[in-house]
Parts: sequence; C-alpha cells; structure tokens
Amino acid sequence: MRKQSGYGWLLMSLLVTYGSTPAAAQTQNCSPPGPLLTLVTDDGSLEDYTRLYPLLREKGVPAVAAIITDFVDNPAAPPPARMNSAQILELSRAGWEIASHTRSHHLLTRLDDVTLEAELRGSRRELEHLGLKVTTVVYPEGEDNPRVQAAARRHYQAALDVDGEVNTWPPREAWRLSRVSLGSWTRPGKSGEPGDTLDFYKARVDEAVQQCGWLIFALHPFSPDHDEVQHSYLGQVIDYAKGRGVRFTTVWGALEALESR
Ligand SMILES: [Zn+2]
Repeated sequence: MRKQSGYGWLLMSLLVTYGSTPAAAQTQNCSPPGPLLTLVTDDGSLEDYTRLYPLLREKGVPAVAAIITDFVDNPAAPPPARMNSAQILELSRAGWEIASHTRSHHLLTRLDDVTLEAELRGSRRELEHLGLKVTTVVYPEGEDNPRVQAAARRHYQAALDVDGEVNTWPPREAWRLSRVSLGSWTRPGKSGEPGDTLDFYKARVDEAVQQCGWLIFALHPFSPDHDEVQHSYLGQVIDYAKGRGVRFTTVWGALEALESR
C-alpha cells in the first residue's frame, strides 16, 4: 500500500484527465493519455515557490519538485535559498508531485553501495515524514549507471536523468526517464542547433505529438540562465503544448494512468 497525501492525489488524478477531448486523442496510433508533458524542477530552490508556482498556477498545470532533503528547514544549507517544508507541502496540496533529489545531492555513481542506499532510502523517508507520497527520484546532475538504476528501483517507481530525449509512451524504462533541459543547462540539438530557443522547445513538443511520446522538461528557475526571456519561453511552450492537445501530468500521474489502462 503506497502512502498518499489524499487531496494532492485526488487533484492529480483529475489533472491526468485534464482536457476531455484533446486534439492529440484524435491522432492516429496514439493511445490515451498520450502525448504527455511533465515539468520537473530540480534542487528545491525558493524560486520554485516564488517564480515557477505563480506561472504554473496561472496556466493551470502541475509540476514535479525534486527536493534535496538535507537542505529543507536547514539554515546551514548552501545557496541558493531553499523552500521550507511548509512551502513544499503547499505545492503538494496544489497538485504538484514532490520527488526525491536524494539527501545531499552527491553524484550517485561515485558512492559506495551503503551510502547510495542511504541517499535513496533516507530522502524518501524524510519526505514521507512530512506526509508526502514519494515515488520518483531525480538523479543529481542526471548521473546514473546500471548499479544506481538498480538501487533506485528498490525504492522508487520512476527515476529521471537528463539525456535530451523525448520518452516513448509507454516508457521503456521507468528508472531511466529522459528529460530535456529548458532555460538552464541546455544542450545543442542533434544537428547542432542551439538548445535554448523557443523554436527548439516547440520542436520537442512537436516530437512528442508526432511520436505520441512523453516529453519531460528539466527546470532550474534559480539559475541565472533561466532569465526572464527563458521564463517567458516556458509560458509560451505551455500554451503551445496545450494548443497541440498535449496533456500535462506529473510523473506519478503518468505511471498511474499506465497502471489503470
Ligand atoms: Zn540537482
């Protein structure tokens, strides 16, 4: 039996079915609920609450906040400023998924087995102590390997890295879901085109629609690279994806939709 924070869970179930007859549902060879788009913000910075939350609330879409649990309610946490537990719980009540980003953000590939286990299990427990349902982990710096993935599978239903790919739907490997960076830590596209333009982001949405896939964007709203221009791109990409019939969901919402098919 998985632990659930009732209200947020109910809201997420509703959000997964958001948009009763999206254009995408009429796309051939696209089984519901795809194509999907998930927004994941890393590191639990205060900007998740002050900057991202207002925009997404206005757009009516959820996100996933990946939290470094050692830095919550900890005055000695390194910069940037982090959300406190009350703010994290407020996002959860608003329909956001709260994910683990490990306890201390060390690169998991470099840890011994005991420490790796403690980072993965401990961070989930700390979030559960706040009353949160936690089924997703985001690998720090997107670093993983088969050993890390196997450890993640023992404690989570899904794990995310940053390989720049649009995921298939249903996903082939839920412990190695790929994300595309938006606003910060961007990478050039396959043909060398800049990875931080509005056209690039829209092309990833088009790819998700064409492939009936699952696009997951990785965000760092505290980063200087995620400036006002990039923030406005985020808003425009959300509108564009809605216009193309893409459904917004959290990671657990997507996997839950998969289980209930
Ligand atoms: Zn991180």
